[in-house]
Amino acid sequence: MGSRLAERLERLGIVTIQDLLFHLPQRYQDRTRLSAIGSLQPGIQSVVVGEIGLAQIRYGRRRSLLCLLSDGTGKLTLRFFHFGGAQQRSFEAGRRILCFGEVRAGPAGLEMVHPEYQLLDADEAPPLEQSLTPIYPTTEGLGQVRLRKLSLAALELIEGGDGPSDYLPAPLRTKLDFPPLVVALRSLHRPPPGLPLNALEHVDYPPRRRLVFEELLAHHLSLRLLRRRFTDSLAPALTATGRLTRPFLEQLEFSLTQAQQRVVAELAEDLGREHPMHRLVQGDVGSGKTVVAALAALQAIEAGFQVAIMAPTELLAEQHLSRFRAWFEPLAIECAWLTGKLAAKTRRDTLESISGGKAQLLVGTHAVFQDEVKFARLGLVVVDEQHRFGVHQRLALRNKGVSEGLRPHQMVMTATPIPRTLAMAAYADLDTSVIDELPPGRHPIETAIVSDRRRDEVIERIARACAAGQQAYWVCPLIEESEALQCRAAADTAETLIEVLPAVRIGLIHGRMKKPERDCTMAAFKAGEIDLLVATTVIEVGVDVPNASLMIVDNAERLGLAQLHQLRGRVGRGECQSVCVLLYRSPLSANARSRLQVLRATSDGFEIAQRDLEIRGPGEVLGTRQTGVMQFRIADLMRDQGMFSQVEKVAEEMLRDWPGQVQPLVRRWVGGGVHYADV
Ligand code: ADP
Ligand code: MG
Repeated sequence: MGSRLAERLERLGIVTIQDLLFHLPQRYQDRTRLSAIGSLQPGIQSVVVGEIGLAQIRYGRRRSLLCLLSDGTGKLTLRFFHFGGAQQRSFEAGRRILCFGEVRAGPAGLEMVHPEYQLLDADEAPPLEQSLTPIYPTTEGLGQVRLRKLSLAALELIEGGDGPSDYLPAPLRTKLDFPPLVVALRSLHRPPPGLPLNALEHVDYPPRRRLVFEELLAHHLSLRLLRRRFTDSLAPALTATGRLTRPFLEQLEFSLTQAQQRVVAELAEDLGREHPMHRLVQGDVGSGKTVVAALAALQAIEAGFQVAIMAPTELLAEQHLSRFRAWFEPLAIECAWLTGKLAAKTRRDTLESISGGKAQLLVGTHAVFQDEVKFARLGLVVVDEQHRFGVHQRLALRNKGVSEGLRPHQMVMTATPIPRTLAMAAYADLDTSVIDELPPGRHPIETAIVSDRRRDEVIERIARACAAGQQAYWVCPLIEESEALQCRAAADTAETLIEVLPAVRIGLIHGRMKKPERDCTMAAFKAGEIDLLVATTVIEVGVDVPNASLMIVDNAERLGLAQLHQLRGRVGRGECQSVCVLLYRSPLSANARSRLQVLRATSDGFEIAQRDLEIRGPGEVLGTRQTGVMQFRIADLMRDQGMFSQVEKVAEEMLRDWPGQVQPLVRRWVGGGVHYADV
């Protein structure tokens, strides 16, 4: 094969014949049967044979060549916008022609636009396909005809007995009632006539089922291997002494919930081992993840190690810093702070205190993990609001802070609960703890969906709430593409509100403001010196002001459910009955309305995450759409959820009883993907 073709195939990840066999069709066409012209339906791709009647050029808004066709059952027009003289002349009246294309309703009856066609001799039998025609995912410069020839050639090779090895052990395959690999591949590449064209959407079509299972299994195994690689490596055993955790708990203004206690114990046990912990702590908004992280951090510091806490935004990192300072400084723990924006001198000092081991806790954004940051004795890494980081960064992080062969322990906390579906496919390299209980005394938040035509009423409501001593947020989400414009929108809103609400003290906060200014506003809001905080979605995660009881989200229809749930979680943290108003721009589509209604109907983050996943798809929810980590060839996380528990069981069995099959299976399906590269 020529180098141009090879290069194009490589773009699709196809290098070997095996790759070609596992490059599966996206859908099928049926070119196995002729349709009578009289039976054609608009919207359906069909093969017809007919006799050419009149062929002529029509000069309308767009010049086109029309060719009238009949077969005794009806008439069909072929329409070409691009055509040559020779082509026009070849459409001789009385000549038989075979066409394939999608039928549509034209101005004068049914037509096909630019069909694929072939002129037939008088007595020539129409050449029909023996199987359904596969349509493959492809890339520029590589046509379906070419791909079909290649896949056919590959199938012929395996017919000859050179099939790819079946890495699914026979006893497992029998138990699962799957067809042999070669049979499944052949049926997917060249399905028999009569199979429904949407067979690839049928969860139960056995050849599909078999390969979907194999693909999910391979992805799951790749993460399991990754996990094993880390759990096999060494970490400092962080022995709990209680020297710091005990006084901390004594001075804490509340007692831990049952769920918090359970998760703290799980973490404590992991940290005491000499293999690195990799634990995901999930908990709904407001479930109290921060204090759990603090206890893990104290255990590491007690054992004489450093802790790094990383948050996705500067605002959130700042908030952690102030909370941890308030908790830790009374215990004489040295806290340091690092972001991308420090002055050179401050930065140098900070780096020094980290490398010298003086700083015991480091809080920051991802600046915490730049190459110049060298820890003296890093024992634990805490990543907050994991979702924002994406799978790639999580994997990259694993290799940071390794010193003298010891890896730090790692704890990740998610802001948004992860649906089980995704957890199994994307987080199987982590152990999981769930804080499934909210602190006592929380009142459910009332959620209202309100048209922005009633903006005035909403503004009045703010006035009343603030007059009664409560505080409120007004969030302006991204309606413009750029951050600058988004900040502008927030600034404009603040200006308008200042005009109409003279008695209310209004502050503004957005991502483009200088840190001191933002600090100042945030502190004033916390101290109750500002009643209404107008903000961009920078406040989405983590901000914690218990006296705030009213949340207005402008243009709520533009946001994902999980994000709205996060925003709503900023209120309902205090004693007061809280309200969240989702303001939408009318008219609201039925779809958008039902989405917003999910929020009104439930406050369970897991349920909301599940719905978000269904609506937006796993790529969006995980934030890995561009990275390709979660791109499957045939599996569909939503459609194939039903297989997950079986996949997990089989993965266990393979790791235990057929370890030799695991690597090749992973390599086949995950190939150059990230987790594999890391393994
Ligand atoms: P999240 O899980 O959303 O990060 P936080 O850690 O910010 O939640 O906690 C939310 C609020 O609940 C904070 O004000 C925190 O001090 C408070 N809190 C946490 N745990 C408890 C508890 N066991 N009892 C009472 N309040 C708690
Ligand atoms: Mg938090």
